[in-house]
This record gives sequence, structure tokens and C-alpha cells, in this order.
Amino acid sequence: MSSDRGVTCSACGATTPLPDDLLVPTFACAFCHGTLSTAAHAGEAAVSADALVGHIERLAADPKAAMANLDESVRSAPRFEGGSREHREGTCVHCRAPVAVPLDLAVRELTCGACGRAQFVREHISDEERFRLDMARQVAGNEAYERLLAEGLACPKCGGHNPVPDDGSVQLICKFCRAAILLSDHVDESAIARHRLKHGVYAVRDELMRQQQGRQRTIGIAVAVIVVVVLGALIAANLLAGGS
Ligand SMILES: [Zn+2]
Ligand SMILES: [Zn+2]
Ligand SMILES: [Zn+2]
Repeated sequence: MSSDRGVTCSACGATTPLPDDLLVPTFACAFCHGTLSTAAHAGEAAVSADALVGHIERLAADPKAAMANLDESVRSAPRFEGGSREHREGTCVHCRAPVAVPLDLAVRELTCGACGRAQFVREHISDEERFRLDMARQVAGNEAYERLLAEGLACPKCGGHNPVPDDGSVQLICKFCRAAILLSDHVDESAIARHRLKHGVYAVRDELMRQQQGRQRTIGIAVAVIVVVVLGALIAANLLAGGS
């Protein structure tokens, strides 16, 4: 399995782990101390999952204020970048030149490279078909991820078999040779990011439960805010894009 976009340092070629906090925009190679981009290595989707969890943590710190401004709480949520990266071949509706039609539900328009004119994606593929394709993509990604959790994976460097923890990690360190292994080299990165988001949201909820034992009403409000914001962000990214 290739790991050409993995945690191989672009400066010195050594294998270096990602930072635990994916929201730091850059991190240093453990060997040559060169500066590396977190998003380029961890994937935009995982970074956006952490940004959304950070937003929820801030809201959960003051759930009554978040509830009082629920519209703003939802609107200011960072976008979850878990959409499809795939395209389908099409022809421009104006000049008939070939165009790449994005299957990411959050993208509504495309611009023809030949004539420069904009057109709606739904002039090429219906919202219903795109939605169906995206559901199939997400289900396939989740199944591959579940298989990875169940079976573990072989280290690309030494071949040693490693278990994959179900904790939303984006990488693991080989227990035999200490190489950093990126899970997105083995399964779709948006499936990893969805699980990372789920684990992050559960962690915020569990922390609330611990801190606020006996303050049932506040917890109830906080959990309601979390649900609304997460659903809002997922819907904005994936489900309602075809509208207007
Ligand atoms: Zn380096
Ligand atoms: Zn055109
Ligand atoms: Zn290894």
C-alpha cells in the first residue's frame, strides 16, 4: 500500500507522526524539524471534524446562551468537509465541451473551462441521483472502516499486524517498527472523519455529564444544542445542497 501522501516528511523523507490536535495548521517533522501542513497530511475532512467539535465545545460551555442564539450557533458552525471528491464526465450545456461534474452535494454550480459559462450541477445529474450516489459512497466508506476496525492492518513498512483502535484516530504508530501509518491510505478519509466527529461529539457530551451531575436541565439544553448544531452542519455539507 503506497503512502505517498502519508506522514512522510516532504523535506527529509522520514516518517513522522501527525499532531494530536489537528487544528494546528502546521507541525514540525520529528526528525528534520521542517514545517509540514496538517491538512495536507491528515486530510481536510478530519481537520474540519475537529473544527466542528471545537465549536460544539464552546457552545456546550454556555448552553443557555447557545440556545438563546440557536440560529447563530448553527450558522457559525464550521463546514464539515466530508463530501465526495469524485467527478463524472459531462458536456457543457452551452458549448458541448467536456466538463467534470462534481459529485459533492455541497457544490451546486460548475464553470466550463472552454467557454467560461456557469451552469447548475443538476443540469447534468439530478439531485436525487447525486444524493443516492452519496449515500452509497458513505455506506461503502463506513463498511470499509468497520472492516479495518475488526481486522486491523499490516504495516506498509515492516508488515507487522496492528489493531486499529475505535477512537476516531486518523493514524496509528506501528507497534513493531514505530512507523506512523495513516488510516486514510487504507479507507476513504471522509469515513474516518465521520467517526472522528462522532467520537468528538460523544466526548463533549460525556464531559458535560461529568461536570454537571445534578444539573439535569442544563445538560438537557446542552445536548439539544449539540444535536441541532451537528445536524445543521451535516445537512449544510451533505443533504440540502441541491435546493434553491
Ligand atoms: Zn523531516
Ligand atoms: Zn462551455
Ligand atoms: Zn511496522
